[in-house]
Amino acid sequence: MSDEAHLDPNIPGNPAYHFTIVPPGTAARAGWSRRAPLVAGARLGTKCVHAGVQPDSAYGAVMPPIYQTSTFAFRDVCTNAGYDYTRSGNPTRAALEEAITVLEGGAGATCTSTGMSAVLVALNLLPHGSHLLCTVDCYGGTFRALEHARAAYGLEVTYLELADLEAVRAAFRENTRMVWIETPSNPLLRLTDIRAVSALARARGALAVVDNTFLSPVQQRPFERGADLVVHSTTKYLNGHSDVVGGAVVAAPNQPALVQRIQSVNNLLGTSQSPHDCFLVLRGLKTLQLRMRAHEAGARAVAEFLAGHPAVAKVHYPGLPSHPQHALATEQQHGFGGMISFELKDGSRARVDHLLRTVRWFTLAESLGGVESLIAHPASMTHASMSPEARRRAGITDAVVRLSIGIEEPEDLVADLAAALESLPA
Ligand code: PLP
Repeated sequence: MSDEAHLDPNIPGNPAYHFTIVPPGTAARAGWSRRAPLVAGARLGTKCVHAGVQPDSAYGAVMPPIYQTSTFAFRDVCTNAGYDYTRSGNPTRAALEEAITVLEGGAGATCTSTGMSAVLVALNLLPHGSHLLCTVDCYGGTFRALEHARAAYGLEVTYLELADLEAVRAAFRENTRMVWIETPSNPLLRLTDIRAVSALARARGALAVVDNTFLSPVQQRPFERGADLVVHSTTKYLNGHSDVVGGAVVAAPNQPALVQRIQSVNNLLGTSQSPHDCFLVLRGLKTLQLRMRAHEAGARAVAEFLAGHPAVAKVHYPGLPSHPQHALATEQQHGFGGMISFELKDGSRARVDHLLRTVRWFTLAESLGGVESLIAHPASMTHASMSPEARRRAGITDAVVRLSIGIEEPEDLVADLAAALESLPA
């Protein structure tokens, strides 16, 4: 179909009337939804509520319709309303892609079935024979995907401490095409200077990718510091209610050509997100700023409590002045997030397991970023896919406990941890 046809808002039923049509590869086109120019100038909390959505032209529905369809009728041979098949494009997904793009300040996005499929979409941009640099304590699933790509496709991978800029500089090879930055990292909350590492990557012709799952665009916007791509597990804070798995890849405003590439890779891998899940994430986004403030308030209270507790050896929380990169966190981030990890003084499995079993408000579960608090043991749960040697190198000992602070009252969370620590066996 011609450009004119699918952008014509006068065609009855043409979704261009309420969503700008985004066939794969064209999401960066100017003027998505009718409200886009208004939303572009708004403050972040207003963007969270309005980005990507507007009253539906058919019935005035305030929330976007869930286009729960696999396929779209053609109006005539070679003429449709901008969508042909939901794997390739869907108006509900386009609304979410627009919203995430606006929040990150990017050129365009593609939404995927899980965070891991977002990771895969980004990795599939790499040409054959590439080398990649990666944060040493990245999420275990990302590590597993990289190790798979190494074994199956010959991807060369170097894991290193990205805070050590000299080591990063020295690690580049002729064929380094990507630097994978997870900041703060999972589970030890180590930070990478996005501006410095992105500049090194750019100088060497490599893409700087930031996994922004831990902070969300409310608390960290990597494109402001030179990143080329942002990856999300929207399963976490963006959705925020522990009822969806999803992901997103967003291209930087100065990388519009990447929009088409990420969208077409998502389409060819078949990893695009279902319309219903997109709707749920879009709903979650509306309260993102409010939730992030509450997560952070709770995390600060819990981190301060843990830091002063005699049974605790170390607390990893970038919001604490004692965090070795607190200054970078203050400068680079727009908040400190809701994730904490800590180590018990005597971190034997018996004591750690007792703690995991004894807390009442913290559910023992993987994942993070939901409204309810979770507790996890990275070595046996989220990072079990790493070899013991890789965990040792990354500093993920058996004594490390990870907390995802929900939006409960901080006093209840602190009291719960206090009681559990009090009851630890000697
Ligand atoms: N990136 C980070 C930082 C994560 O913590 C996770 C999951 O925990 C992922 C990516 C993968 O996301 P998903 O579980 O939605 O596939």
